[in-house]
Amino acid sequence: MNVHDSERISGLLEQAGYVRAVPADDTPDIVVFNTCAVRENADNRLYGNLGRLRPVKDKHPGMQIAVGGCLAQKDRGEIVRKAPWVDVVFGTHNIGSLPVLLERARHNAAAEVEILESLDVFPSTLPTRRESTYAGWVSISVGCNNTCTFCIVPALRGKEKDRRPGDILSEVRALVDEGVLEVTLLGQNVNSYGVEFGDRYAFGKLLRACGDIDGLERVRFTSPHPKDFTDDVIAAMAETPNVCHSLHMPLQSGSDDVLRAMRRSYRSERYLGIIEKVRAAMPDAAITTDIIVGFPGETEADFQRTLDVVREARFSSAFTFQYSKRPGTPAATMDDQLPKQVVQERYERLIETVEEITWAENKRLLGETVEVLVAVGEGRKDERTGRMSGRARDGRLVHFATDTPDGESMASQIRPGDIVHTTITYAAPHHLNADGAPVAHRRTRAGDAAEAGRSPRTPGVLLGLPTIGAPPVAAAPTAGCATH
Ligand code: SF4
Repeated sequence: MNVHDSERISGLLEQAGYVRAVPADDTPDIVVFNTCAVRENADNRLYGNLGRLRPVKDKHPGMQIAVGGCLAQKDRGEIVRKAPWVDVVFGTHNIGSLPVLLERARHNAAAEVEILESLDVFPSTLPTRRESTYAGWVSISVGCNNTCTFCIVPALRGKEKDRRPGDILSEVRALVDEGVLEVTLLGQNVNSYGVEFGDRYAFGKLLRACGDIDGLERVRFTSPHPKDFTDDVIAAMAETPNVCHSLHMPLQSGSDDVLRAMRRSYRSERYLGIIEKVRAAMPDAAITTDIIVGFPGETEADFQRTLDVVREARFSSAFTFQYSKRPGTPAATMDDQLPKQVVQERYERLIETVEEITWAENKRLLGETVEVLVAVGEGRKDERTGRMSGRARDGRLVHFATDTPDGESMASQIRPGDIVHTTITYAAPHHLNADGAPVAHRRTRAGDAAEAGRSPRTPGVLLGLPTIGAPPVAAAPTAGCATH
């Protein structure tokens, strides 16, 4: 969500006439911090970064610093009190105001702080500069009606707002027209999509409607919520050919007592029941999850339940977190906060169990030929190993060799966004390798766009956006960024 907001901030500033800074360039004229309060120590990191920028700004009069995102929504005027060299503070509900606020701060030579309590315009109506040529985020809803006790999202992003299906599908079509092959439908709780317009089956229908879009090869979504998950979504996933058989469904804890304390209103039995149905409909489905260990009051027996569910669910990957307090959340003031070493020790045992399972699950793919969408930045060691990397349809990370059987490298012909079929020769807990020659390579429009250095843009519909008088922006460099 936050990364996609950064794409909007970039698109908005480009539309207003700003040009992306390159790292080797002079100091940028504007630095925007898009903060995330879900991360630990977000405030320390923000104020540390602002402190480091102060002397830079002193040396470059006219430079502007803006702070947006969840932490800005939370800290508001506090930010300019602590760092008076900040020019603009904007919240999660008014990203679209950023160019106006920058202009006003410049004109008045005074800081502008504008935080709205609820959404002004649905953020997807804003122009967006996409980072990827082959995959795009598409918001279907923002905000959340749940009240998980560890989570700051409802306080900072507000109640769920659903976007009209027609608007969502138009954005998906616009992305596909630009060459994008994969979209990820984005919402805090995609399964409650439709609650605002009274259709509890709206999400399954949306998946099926995506199936009718020519040229759209992969549809993903994040995140579902076990409480609202309905069987029609499983049927839509299984019956719509371009919907990927991958499901990222947060578990958080396997203990019903802890789930109750977290105010997550499903129980482990329901969670496992959904997985069973998904596997029955799609035996090849890869299921991934989020787990928190060390929630206040979690006992050893509770933790054992989490390990039991991990073993039973057979995840192909899991994001594991040690519980830590987020100021402003109910859990932060609960009694029974656990000592750090208990949380650490459980965390290590959890990782060990998760890796044992994910490794075994990955090994099941040895000898299988998989379809890989070639990606940028997924293989840190690619340069050294001579491999390229991408994601299989089920979301697994695959590093693949590019030599033909005659020993010639295909590396120069395969571009990010192209499709490669290759056979898995090695499995690790977090990735797969394919070290034989690729079985097939398909050049795609996304690959053409990557080669030409074009990134997809969705224009948005904002009127009256102030510009700084620069001509329309040419293709911007792919590296370097004035937003964080
Ligand atoms: S479902 Fe819970 S964890 Fe997810 S955004 Fe809503 S309140 Fe936060």
